[in-house]
Amino acid sequence: MRALIFDGRLQVRDDHPMPEPPPGEVRVRVRRAGICRTDVEITRGYMDHRGVLGHEFVGELADGSRVVGEINAYDATCETCRRGDVTQCENRTVLGIFRRDGAMAEYVTLPARGTLVLKSTFHGVHPLALAPLVVDEVTLVGSRCGPFPPAMRLLEQHLIEVDALLDAEYPLAHGIEAFARASAPGALKVQLVMEGGSV
Ligand SMILES: [Zn+2]
Repeated sequence: MRALIFDGRLQVRDDHPMPEPPPGEVRVRVRRAGICRTDVEITRGYMDHRGVLGHEFVGELADGSRVVGEINAYDATCETCRRGDVTQCENRTVLGIFRRDGAMAEYVTLPARGTLVLKSTFHGVHPLALAPLVVDEVTLVGSRCGPFPPAMRLLEQHLIEVDALLDAEYPLAHGIEAFARASAPGALKVQLVMEGGSV
């Protein structure tokens, strides 16, 4: 499958292995992925991440459900998790940032418990379909990468002008140009659109 990876240099590959979801995980067909400042920093060495980049996305499951996902994945079975401290999971991974391939690809796998199925009001409504990708910006009023539900509520009630936060969109094949645009001073959100992912 096609994927934007960083292995010391940023490159679009067409031969990245299709991810096979292990038990408890689901495979998501990615429709759009946003480029975050964190992604740009990773290409400069942050977190020493190697593999597919990307932690802001909207996609769909095999049944057509539209989903977004949390970036932190925990195993729920280690001693630390069983104590209830999942943020310190011994086997923790972070989507596109730490030991887990990210969403700038045609497909990504995530724990099923970490995905959020979008409500019907989000279906097929163009401006709102872009909404999950700017959740980081929306939650800047509180804490960055904050919880989804309050952000979703703001978007659902049209209290956030999403289009005004978008700068440009590029097909995944042009991911290198997209990163250059996202790195430019004053750039707003730049998105990668997967094939067939224009909605
Ligand atoms: Zn754990």
